[in-house]
Amino acid sequence: MDPSPETHPKTTLSRRRIGVFGGTFDPPHIGHLVAAINARQALDLDVVLLVVANVPWQKVGHRTVTAAEDRLAMMRAAVGDRDDLEVSDIEVRRGGDSYTADTLGELLDREPDAELFVILGRDAAAGLASWERHDEVVSQAQLVVVDRPGPPVELDRRYRWLRVDIPELEISSTELRDRVAAGLSIDYLTPSAVVDLIAARGLYRNAGAG
Ligand code: ATP
Ligand code: MG
Repeated sequence: MDPSPETHPKTTLSRRRIGVFGGTFDPPHIGHLVAAINARQALDLDVVLLVVANVPWQKVGHRTVTAAEDRLAMMRAAVGDRDDLEVSDIEVRRGGDSYTADTLGELLDREPDAELFVILGRDAAAGLASWERHDEVVSQAQLVVVDRPGPPVELDRRYRWLRVDIPELEISSTELRDRVAAGLSIDYLTPSAVVDLIAARGLYRNAGAG
C-alpha cells in the first residue's frame, strides 16, 4: 500500500528520499524497527538508515555504553536482509563523539541530490535544542517525529515537524538491559537473532554495567 503516490512520484530522475534514524541502540528492539518501517512507508522513503552512534555523548557519564561493534552487530542481526532498512556504520567509522550534523553532511557529500529525513522518537525530538549544531541538522534535513509512550513533550515550534503515526510500543533499551540483568526473558521484545547475539556475547548480564 503506497499512502501517497501522487505527492512523491517515483521516476528514475527523482531524488532519493533517505530516512536517517540514529540512536545508541543498546540494544535495538521492536520499538526501533516499528518506528523505522512505518516512517519509511508513510513518507515513501527509499530506505531508512539505522545509524548506530559511536559515542552517544549525551549518555556518557550516566551509564556504561556497550561497545559500538556489539551494537552494530546487534542492529545488523535485527534488520536481517530487509532491503528497505540499512544499518549504517558511518558514525562508528568516523569515530569520536557522534553528531547528527556531521552525519548528514557526510551523507550529502556522498549523494548531494538526496533528500534527508531525520526520524526521532518524541523524547529525542524534545531534546533537539541540546544537539550540537542543531541549526545545521534542521537545514540539511526534514524533521520527522514518531510517537512513543511517555509524558507529553513540547516540540520546538521554530521548526517544521512531520508527524508519523505508529503503533506506540512501551518498550526501551533500558528495559531490555534491566531484564537481561535480572535474568528475565527478552523474547519477542527484539528479534530472535538479537536475543541470540546478546546471549552468545554475554551482554547486559551485570546490572548497572550497561
Ligand atoms: P534507552 O532506554 O537506552 O535510552 P531507547 O529505547 O530510548 O534506549 P535509543 O537508542 O535511546 O533507544 O533511541 C533511539 C531512537 O529511537 C530515539 O529517537 C528514540 O526516541 C527512538 N525510540 C526508542 N524507543 C522507541 C519506541 N518504543 N517507540 C518509538 N521510538 C522509539
Ligand atoms: Mg533513549
